[in-house]
Parts: sequence; C-alpha cells; structure tokens
Amino acid sequence: MKKIAFFCIPAHGHTNPMLPVAAELVRRGDQVKFYSFREFEEKITASGAEFIACDSYLPTLTAQEEAGLKAVSTTEMTIQAIRITRSLDTFLDGEFKAFQPDVVYTDSVCFWGKLNAWKHQVPMVVSTSTFAFNELSSQYMKNSSKEIADMVFGLSRISKELKTLEPLGYHVKNALSLVQSDNDTDSIVYTSRKFQPYSPSFTGHYAFVGPSVFSNAAPDKLHERPLVFISMGTVINDRPDFYAKCIEALRDANVDVVISCGSSVDIAALGKLPENIQVFPSVDQLAVLSEANVFITHCGMNSVSESLYMATPMVLYPQTGEQQAVARRVTEMGAGVMLTDDSAEGIRKMVKEVLANKQYAKAAKTCSDDFRACPGTAGAADFIETAPHTVIGTDILKEMHKANAVFLVVFWLLVIALVVALCVLLHWKFAWIIGFPAGFLSTPLGKHIQMRKYQRFAEKQG
Ligand code: UDP
Repeated sequence: MKKIAFFCIPAHGHTNPMLPVAAELVRRGDQVKFYSFREFEEKITASGAEFIACDSYLPTLTAQEEAGLKAVSTTEMTIQAIRITRSLDTFLDGEFKAFQPDVVYTDSVCFWGKLNAWKHQVPMVVSTSTFAFNELSSQYMKNSSKEIADMVFGLSRISKELKTLEPLGYHVKNALSLVQSDNDTDSIVYTSRKFQPYSPSFTGHYAFVGPSVFSNAAPDKLHERPLVFISMGTVINDRPDFYAKCIEALRDANVDVVISCGSSVDIAALGKLPENIQVFPSVDQLAVLSEANVFITHCGMNSVSESLYMATPMVLYPQTGEQQAVARRVTEMGAGVMLTDDSAEGIRKMVKEVLANKQYAKAAKTCSDDFRACPGTAGAADFIETAPHTVIGTDILKEMHKANAVFLVVFWLLVIALVVALCVLLHWKFAWIIGFPAGFLSTPLGKHIQMRKYQRFAEKQG
C-alpha cells in the first residue's frame, strides 16, 4: 500500500482527470489524500479519496485581481498560485510530516504541490491536463497580443512575488521552470502519443495514458435527428451572446440541440426556446457526448478528449492560445472544423458541414479507437505507484541543443576566418558583407539543423 498526496488548483478541467486516477488507486488499497477546495469536495469524496480542504488558505482578492483571474490572465494566476503556496506553507509542512506520502501527484500548474514535493523530497508525478508543452509543442500555441502583453508586463511582478518563496525553503529559478514540461520529470498526460504534438520529443518520463474518464459508455450515434451539443467549458462560459447565436442558427434546423451554459448565464434571458433546443447550467458531458453527432466546443483539452473518446466530431471555437493549440491538432487529425465566422449563419454552415461530410465522424472514430487503446487510469495508477522512474533512452531535445551548439561554434569560426581573409585581401570596411548576413542566418540555420535532427529521430521512432 502506498500513501499518495494529490494536489490540484481550484478548476474543474484540472481536477476532473485526476479523479478516476484517485478512484483506481483507492480501489487498489492505496491511501489517497486529495488537497483541494470545497467546490470539489463531493466529487473527490465520491472517488474514495480523503478530501482535505484548503479554502481557508486562499488569499482575499481585490476586485482587480478577481477580474484578472476571471479573464484567465497568466500573470494573475501565477501570482495567486505563489500567494497560495506561501499561505499554505506551515499547514503543508505539518501535513507532510504527519502523512509522510510516498508519492506526490500534482497538477502541472499547482505550484504548492510541486514546490512541497521538492521541499520535502518526495517523489513527484505531474498531472498534465492539457498537452505536454515543451519548446517544440508550445509552437502550437498562438497567444493573442493581449495574452503576450499580459505575460510581458507581468514578468517583474511575478519575479518579485517569487522571491518571497525563497525564505520558506522553495527554490525556484523562474516561473516558466514551474509550469513547462521537462524531460526529467515523471508526468502523466491524458492523451495518446499519437494526439500529442511532437510526441517523440518527450522521454519515457512521460506516460500518455489517454483520456481519464469515469464513463464506460460506448458511442451511440443513431437517432431520429442528429444531436448537436454546445459548451464553452467551465471557466470562460459566460457567453450569452454566443448561445443566442447558436439558438438562432439551429432553431429551424432538423437537429436536436443541448446547450450547457454554466451557472452565470440567465437562461430565461435567452428568450423562449424552440422545441428542439434545451439549455442547462451543466450536464453530464460524457453521457451527452456519447450520443452527440457534433460538438461545438471552446476546445478545452478535457472537452476535446472526451469528444474524441466518444467519437464525436467538432466545430472548434477556441478562446485562448492553449485552446488554439488543441483546436489545431483536431483539424490535423481531420476530426473537426474551425469556426472562423461566429455569426448565426457561420455556425449553421459549420454544423451542416460536419453533419454532411462523414469524414469528420470517421476521423473522430479513429481517434476514439486510439484513445481507448491507451493504458487509461490503470496505466496512470501503475505509473504513480512505481515512481520515481529511471529512464534510459535518447532525450532528443538535449541532442538538438548539442547539435545547435556544435553548429554555432563551427559557423562562427568559419565566419571569423572569412572576415579575416576579406580584411587581409581587401579592406576591413568590407567585413560587414559577411558579418551582417551571418548574424541574420545563424538562428534560422541552427533551427533548421535542430529540426532535421528531430525529424530523423521521429522517423526512426515510427
Ligand atoms: N463539464 C461537465 N458538464 C458540463 C460542462 C463541462 O461535466 O456541462 C466538464 C467536462 O466534462 C470537462 C470539464 O468540465 O471535463 C471542462 O474542462 P475543459 O478542459 O474542457 O475546459 P475548462 O472548463 O477547463 O475551460
């Protein structure tokens, strides 16, 4: 029997995939303590894990901070995560001493979970509720100018806040080192190696276990009328404007529609609903998806994984850089289309397209088969129970960095030799003819060499 401490931030999308893993560990006789927040108590207790409330350690927020969190500002979320780590410090010191966990299983952006595993030197496994993002796969993320400005202008606030952790025994290089996936950390990712972008760049420290869901339901898509399911997830779902457009788009269509709109939308304000459309604050998403023929989604990783697991093709309406990355991967797999025009007419057109062109449903079914062949929650539980992992094999990212370093040394030695030759043969004032182009070319050439190395490695991996 192992003692395992689970840590997660207060977010459904991050908590949900950890729950079936907790249930599996409990079923095996392991002792699981889940450090979370009252909003999630019922779900956590239902998994069989012991729920530990951390609500009283949440800092009081100013109106501005609250607005930042609601807008999913990376800076605000990072700062609040650091503050929570600080306020939980004494409590968690006591908990680690009393419980003495064998393994910490922590969400990838739950700073207090990660930092306490390091501080108390307990083997750690990271739960990654989206794609694993490293320097290659993060190229899939196209952040908006607003998101970039938020990150750039927030850097000094974040580094000031990070310094306050040092006296408590938490040593952090920078915020990125706390959130980015690295090839030496045992990590569980709830997707398949096939769906993960640039998957060969992740070493054996990664377990791609497939979607972590409670449902055993199989897809059942045959009904009198096709079923369209619409959800914007649980975070940025206060979008009455969008739900109204969906209602207008589909009110006269020969389809049934279920909309999950979240708890902040006033359903009555959406007007009298036509007989083919139902709106709920929340639904059993997996049950609805098992029957849905199209899913209009904000492209949260869980929603997309659950949709593919249930072989449901999608109309993709991402709202953040991370959701853009997920949407892009779905289009690459052929299992969905982007909603580029979010007018009622645009929505109607895309729903019709996905219903009419059976290739989307076929691609979603292929993904479903791939996901269902993954090790699942049993694989995740094995990986946690046997942590820490020793991994033999090539870390292609390190090899790429080495190749780049060698290239740069050779390249600049050659440039220097050419410049010297030019100066000796002609005049020093001609040095720029070689110097300038060399300066411009060194980075793209280095990148090209690295990518060739990666591609050769990926081909060998099959
Ligand atoms: N969800 C649900 N019922 C709903 C809407 C959402 O159970 O009516 C669940 C959904 O199954 C998924 C999670 O909430 O597991 C949403 O996570 P996701 O990563 O898709 O988006 P987020 O809410 O984090 O933006």
